[in-house]
Amino acid sequence: MTVRVRIAPSPTGLLHVGNARAALFNWLFARHTGGTFILRIDDTDLARSENEYEEDVLTGLGWLGLDWDEGVGVGGPYGTYRQSDRLDRYAEVAGLLLAAGDAYYCFCTPSELDERRKEAQAQGRPPGYDGRCRLLGDAEAGRRQEQGEAAVIRLAVPRPGVTTFDDIVRDEVRFDHDAIDDFVLVRSDGSPTYHLASTVDDVDYQITHVARGEDLLSSTPKHILITGAMGGSVPTYAHLPLLFGPDGKKLSKRHGDVSLKAYRDGGFLPEAMFNYMCLLGWSYEAETTVFTREQAIERFDLSAVSKNAAIFDPEKLEWMNGVYIRALDPADFIDRAFPLVEDELGRELSGAEREQVVALGPLVQERVKLLTEVPEMMTFLFEGALSYDETSWRKVMETETTPSALDAAIDRLTAVGEWVAADIEAELRAMLDELELNARKGLQPIRVATTGSTVSPPLFETLEVLGREVTLHRLRAARAKL
Ligand code: GLU
Repeated sequence: MTVRVRIAPSPTGLLHVGNARAALFNWLFARHTGGTFILRIDDTDLARSENEYEEDVLTGLGWLGLDWDEGVGVGGPYGTYRQSDRLDRYAEVAGLLLAAGDAYYCFCTPSELDERRKEAQAQGRPPGYDGRCRLLGDAEAGRRQEQGEAAVIRLAVPRPGVTTFDDIVRDEVRFDHDAIDDFVLVRSDGSPTYHLASTVDDVDYQITHVARGEDLLSSTPKHILITGAMGGSVPTYAHLPLLFGPDGKKLSKRHGDVSLKAYRDGGFLPEAMFNYMCLLGWSYEAETTVFTREQAIERFDLSAVSKNAAIFDPEKLEWMNGVYIRALDPADFIDRAFPLVEDELGRELSGAEREQVVALGPLVQERVKLLTEVPEMMTFLFEGALSYDETSWRKVMETETTPSALDAAIDRLTAVGEWVAADIEAELRAMLDELELNARKGLQPIRVATTGSTVSPPLFETLEVLGREVTLHRLRAARAKL
């Protein structure tokens, strides 16, 4: 049997990291087994589905390198893989289930249902649908239907009964049918519910394994019942543990960004995100947290996914991002830095400026955890009139010893023979000795005067890249401003 798995996002919002993790696990499983990874778009909720969100899904998966073999955008034997294009098929299946007696029309109005639900609750009975219209009989149902009375179609859940399945992650799961009401397949406006559309697609697309979030666990017996009524073969299910924040509560906006886009835009490398997300419910090896895509593919197994909640910890992710940034080939890092610096400056870099970025690149690469930190560590190179970070200025420049330190630095740096970091350092250290200043008192003013802030790449190398002329010009400008 060839594995066929799918990810089925609804384009009603930005791709959530939880869904991205589900996509990753499905992709890894497909790549490990030589199977097929399918992207389906669940856009039956036309009012809330937006093109922009579908785009976000495609871009997000592409960014993570999760290529799909069939589905939206790439095609395949089953049409467009968009549910909105398959409404006829869902209606057809509903018709077949009606004809076979596995489904029935229900004419109960929302207010009647509401009233009966309240009554049931007051009497301590389960609040689900009570099955009233199941007893109507075909003749009566047909008559009311023809008269144009609004109706939904419900599945006739076999009673008594039990649905069990062997979940790859959770082992045997059991649902008594007493706990499943006759749920809706088709709404009164003719639109299919998620349960119907998703199940019909899983059957038609011959999905072999459904790996999705544990929040859908209680939907699974419904899907198995529909599959059975359709005469389809039931896929193997794997319910992935939900994501929690570091405080042990279910991951939500309270914890910070939950969309993949926020991380795409936030200076994270897709390689780091990929690696980190692998660890959300799975582990490569107890002691190994950093590994390549190929290693993950080689080892990944759905049956090794843990039942325990997975903690999504942005701090750990940031740490891992730093590891990945430092491991980049310096040329690769610089290629990624160019556009970020140009974006920040709002113009293209000249050839000479690009050389400065190349020269400073390795020093910055060692110091950032996010690519978004790169521009602030580089753009000071290219500012005509340097803007100073206010706090840095107050803390460092308004100190008694700063004027004499700047004066001495200007004299000594004017006299440096060759403008290289080692000689610049020798001169400035001699200045510290002469004025009996420690590095903080003597060198920080030079840093703020030349880079605008106390946070910058190492000073002597930075001055070398900045060049003698600009360095002296900036030191004098800062001295004059004191
Ligand atoms: N469209 C559903 C969702 O985004 C798909 C769930 C499933 O994988 O069945 O939650």
